[in-house]
Amino acid sequence: MPIMPKYTGQISSKLPKVGTSIFSVMSALSTEHKAINLAQGFPDFDPEDELLELVRKYYQKGHNQYAPMQGILPLRQIISFYVEKRYGTTYNPLSEITITAGATQAIFTAILSLVSEGDEVLVFTPAYDCYEPAIELAGAKTVYAQLKAPDYRADWTEVKKLISRRTRMVIINTPHNPTGTVLSEADMKTLEKLTQNTNTIVLSDEVYEHMVFDGELHQSVCRFPKLAERSLAVSSFGKNFHATGWKLGYIVGPENLMVEFNKVHQYNVFACNHPLQMAITDFIGKKGDFGYLSAFYQKKRDLFRGLLAKSRFKLLPCEGSFFQLVDFAAISDEKDTDFSVRLTTEIGVAAIPVSVFYPREFDEKVLRFCFAKGEETLSKAAEILCKI
Ligand code: PMP
Ligand code: GLN
Repeated sequence: MPIMPKYTGQISSKLPKVGTSIFSVMSALSTEHKAINLAQGFPDFDPEDELLELVRKYYQKGHNQYAPMQGILPLRQIISFYVEKRYGTTYNPLSEITITAGATQAIFTAILSLVSEGDEVLVFTPAYDCYEPAIELAGAKTVYAQLKAPDYRADWTEVKKLISRRTRMVIINTPHNPTGTVLSEADMKTLEKLTQNTNTIVLSDEVYEHMVFDGELHQSVCRFPKLAERSLAVSSFGKNFHATGWKLGYIVGPENLMVEFNKVHQYNVFACNHPLQMAITDFIGKKGDFGYLSAFYQKKRDLFRGLLAKSRFKLLPCEGSFFQLVDFAAISDEKDTDFSVRLTTEIGVAAIPVSVFYPREFDEKVLRFCFAKGEETLSKAAEILCKI
């Protein structure tokens, strides 16, 4: 078979530092070595049968052409209803809500549409991996505010020093990936005060909004009127329905920000999966929204923490999300990147090294495990981890 020759012209990479994502790398390694994959964040169980039945129904007939650009109106209406019920802010389904191809596309499109060359965007580290490449493509500069182990709280005095007239956007993520911490009401009020009377937009990544534990409330930007008026909040149906492969989510925000968002959205993706939107609308209409999810994931967190209690890993606090951080300093002095590879290839459990969520090399002996798994998977993984 002829082999495709290499392109011989010049390529000037727009993202010279970017390689393959750690999630793809660790999942491939995990599969190759038949490890238990607690690395990439995805459930090992399916959505409810009733929802799958509806998906089947809407794929079968009548909904296989383009959806409207912003998403089907009944879904936007139902989102508007529940966001208002939960957080007290009303978003107009006609102009302030757009259905996206997962949270990733919402975040990418929000940054590309609102951040310009020369702007600064403040990001808290460790940071989920999709923010910085989009900032770079927009020609802007990422400014880092560090969340420090072991509790990974925001240092608002430092943040205040980092915010200037050049700060076009602050990106927050609560509950937080990878640390599993949540922002408090006091944190949000401080952010509200810091951004008051500025041109700074807040992009709030809230994909784990329904996974907040121990009776705490999710502190969405949508709860704080003076924050909401300058914020875009992003959600993911992939997380809410245990269906990360569906890549469907949404973004809400004030109309004038959403006008700019939609200008890019319509050429970035135009419209998102139509039958899934129909099924989800129908399902939420019948069952209500996601009030049960926090208890569902808290049970998994408690089980996993309980199982690891006798291990030599030190468990860091987990207030939300489906991630548990562990400190492995008592077990090994390897770099987290090396230890996570050895754990996957020789010991049989895959994890994510937390240093990859920092812009520079960072020697913190911390790994991230995903506990969105069935009891049997968690028990098997813990049994192995307790022997180390
Ligand atoms: N933000 C965070 C913090 C995430 O953990 C993820 C996903 N895994 C995303 C965004 C992307 O969500 P989606 O799969 O809906 O694109
Ligand atoms: N958000 C998931 C995680 O943190 C991974 C998503 C992806 O693979 N891009 O593990």
